[in-house]
Order: sequence, then structure tokens, then C-alpha cells
Amino acid sequence: MPSYELECNLPGNTANMENMVRAVDPEAVFTTGSADYRIEITVSGTKQELTCEGRIGGRQAAQISFTDREISDPRYGMDAFAQRQKEMVRKGVLLLLQKSGASPLPWGILTGVRPSKIYHYLRDLGFSPAEVEERLRDQFVLVPEKAAHLTAVGEVQRPFFRKVAGRLSIYVGIPFCPTKCHYCSFASHPLTTHAHLVEGFLVALAYEIEEIGKALTRIGLSPATLYIGGGTPTVLTVSQLRDLLNRISHSFPLGELLEYTVEAGRPDTLDREKLKLLRDYGVTRVSVNPQTFNPCTLARIGRKHTVEQLEAAVALVRTLDFPCLNMDMIVGLPGEGEEDWDDTLEKLLAYQSENITLHTLAPKRAATWDFSQVKAEIAEERVACWLETSRTRLSSAGYYPYYLYRQRRSVGGQENCGYTLPGWEGIYNIIMMEERSTVLGLGGGGMSKWFDPVSLKVSRTPNPKCPATYRGRIKELVAEKVNRLITSAN
Ligand code: SF4
Repeated sequence: MPSYELECNLPGNTANMENMVRAVDPEAVFTTGSADYRIEITVSGTKQELTCEGRIGGRQAAQISFTDREISDPRYGMDAFAQRQKEMVRKGVLLLLQKSGASPLPWGILTGVRPSKIYHYLRDLGFSPAEVEERLRDQFVLVPEKAAHLTAVGEVQRPFFRKVAGRLSIYVGIPFCPTKCHYCSFASHPLTTHAHLVEGFLVALAYEIEEIGKALTRIGLSPATLYIGGGTPTVLTVSQLRDLLNRISHSFPLGELLEYTVEAGRPDTLDREKLKLLRDYGVTRVSVNPQTFNPCTLARIGRKHTVEQLEAAVALVRTLDFPCLNMDMIVGLPGEGEEDWDDTLEKLLAYQSENITLHTLAPKRAATWDFSQVKAEIAEERVACWLETSRTRLSSAGYYPYYLYRQRRSVGGQENCGYTLPGWEGIYNIIMMEERSTVLGLGGGGMSKWFDPVSLKVSRTPNPKCPATYRGRIKELVAEKVNRLITSAN
């Protein structure tokens, strides 16, 4: 494992530099003294002009120097200077590593989950889309395709910020699945081992839904969007599902709901009766997730469903007239090559689902798989190309991108991106990623995000992922949430 020693003249930049190095070299370890590489960064100057100088010593020594006068633009506020210094430190590190042999990173110095945040920050300051795109390339070192992609996504999203201003959304987490997919790192417990926890969990969830419903009615707030996710909510029995949907419809003021989504990801949990229930209770958007159309890969990744089950589930969704169908796919699955992805894409497009979400495989430590065992079978160097081809083919079929996010360790440093046919943007996805309104997270692993419209910042309060812990703490969790809701309404 390559070791790095990092030094910067600005205090408090160690984690900043380490993040950047790890984005280039995920195996990096950090030491003081006798490292393979020593990186030194010096950032100096004023609000009118900042200069970064850097050197990397070791096997491939190199130096860089660049100046930034763009920070003098009067549209930036006082807080921008400290932020720009940090960005220049990251940029210095990245340019040094590239100069000593590393490949360019698709997302440059944007190492976080939400690259679109910087887009909206700059647009809010008054920069035009073209000006932001230019800055994404120059200051943030995005490759041109990603800068253009992010600009396209950002412009689709902005009207939705106005649409949901002053409103909140609700997420309900059902943290169970029939079995655990090998690559999964979500808050999901397989029924094969955790079925005994379901009833107790649902009792606690019923209490949370009723109490939050009462609070919302009391303060006169109606949700803009509602999303039941997980896990796989449709793993519940028909009677459990009916009870849940019934409680939701009687507890929450849903009169002005813009979108009601249920994750029905695993086709092996679906039948006509469950889907009809969803439709009868007003669900407008369901997600049925093929991930791949290759049956061997499906078996390999532990999905435990067949392509035929997927086809049957989608046919039911269409027969029952759900307005919006989303299909999730994963690019870069082990053992898949050019022909597999081509074939999957062709089959996917034939469904003409209103939404398509392309995920890049992200080998996470929380997954049951030991990814080091399958690393050699992941076509890491081809993933960028497949995503690009997909973008082109989706665009020809009438889709455009509307939300995106990144995950640490995703193959090739690529992103996850949601595409839509015109007018079918998944509004909850935009809200949840861009954090421009409050989301109440109920159920297992539900994350509440409290949005402050003045600072545009969010604070988070998580529900436990473990169903038993959730049940044990339910009174305290609900009391905190209700209290915060009432306080923020006053
Ligand atoms: S269906 Fe989704 S949430 Fe459930 S185990 Fe598979 S990847 Fe995880």
C-alpha cells in the first residue's frame, strides 16, 4: 500500500488532503516520515488573488503552481474565501498526483456525495449556467462531460426547489428484504433471519405514523411527497401492507401530495394483490429494479429473482396503470462485459419506463461480499464508456438526467444518475439529494433532514437502522421529532 506524508501551510487541512489523495488512490495510507510520497502544499494571498504552490517528492517528483483571481468576483460572500482556500489545497494535491502519473478524476476535486450542491451554490450567487460549467471545469477540475452533465441536471432541478418551497416530505423506511443481495450496504435485514422482528417493528412504525400525522395536522403542514423505501416494503404480507397504507392515508394530510412512491424493488415480492393495494391507496410511482437482464449475473449477485419474474411484475404495473415506473440498474457488475451491458440497455429501453436510474457498482465494506474476490472481474476501465453510451442512447430515446449523486468507492469514480421522460422527474429524489426542504424520516433507518431556509443548511436526526432498537426507542424518537416539528412551525 502506498504511503503518503502530507503537509500544508494552512492549519486544519489534513482530512481535506487525505480525502483528495484517497479519491485518487483508495489504498493510500498516511504516515509522518519515511513515506513513499511527500506532498507539500502552500496556499497564500488575499481575497483578490490566491496562489497555490505544491510539490510531491518520492518516486515521481513534480511541482505545480497556479493562481486564482476568480475569487475576487464580487458575487462571492465573505464565507467563500476560506472555502476557496480549501478547494485550492485539494486542487493542488490532485494536480500534483496527476503530474506524477495518476489519471484524471471524472469529478475532479468534488469528492463528496452531492456534486450538485456546488452547482446550486454558484447559481444562487448569480452565476449563469455557462459560468458555473466553466468553473466546474477550471476550479473544480471536472472532466468536460461531467461538467456538462452536472449543468444539465442542475437546470432541471431548480424549478422543483420553488415547487416544494416551505413544504416537507416524508420517508418511511421498511428495513426488511426477502434475502440480502451480496453487494447491498443498505439498512436491510433479510426475512430469512429477521422475520421475528417484523411485527414488533410495524407496531412501533404505526405509533410513529400516527403521532407525526397528528403533529402535522396540528401545525397545518401537508407533505409534498411521500416515499416508502427500505429495504423492500413489498416484502410485507398483503395484510401488513394494507394496514400500513391505511394508517398512512388516515394519519397524514395527503390532499396536496405531488408524488407517492413505493420501492417495490424485488420482483419476487410482487403479485397482483399487493400492487393493486398500492394503486388503490394512491401510489403514483413504483420502482421495480432489474439491476441487470443477465440471468447469470442476477444469480451471482444474490438477487434471488429471475428475469421472467421481473417481466411479469412490470406487466402488472402497466396493467394497473401506475402513472410512473422507475427501474434501477447497476453498471459494472462482476463478470459483465460490453455485450452484457449493451443487451441490458436494449432490453431496458424496450420497457419505456418513465424513470431509469443508473447506479455504478460501489463495493462497500458493509456488503456481505468480499469485493477483493471479484475485483478482477469488474471492468472498471469500461464503466465510464458504458455510462457515456447509456447517456447517449437514453437521450435518443427521449430521457434526460434529473438527479445524481456519488458514492465512495464507486467503480471508476463514477456517479449514480436518475433519468426521466419529460415531466416524470422523481421529485422526492431531487429533494432528498439537494436538501432544499425538510424530509421527515420515519421507520427503520429513516433520516430526518431539517432544512433551514435562511442558511440553506440541513441538520440530521437518524432513526436506528436496527428494527429492535427502533422499537425500543420509539417513544423518545417520536417525542423529539414532534417537538422539533412544533418548534420549527412557531
Ligand atoms: S433488494 Fe435492495 S435493499 Fe434489499 S438486499 Fe437487495 S439491494 Fe439491499
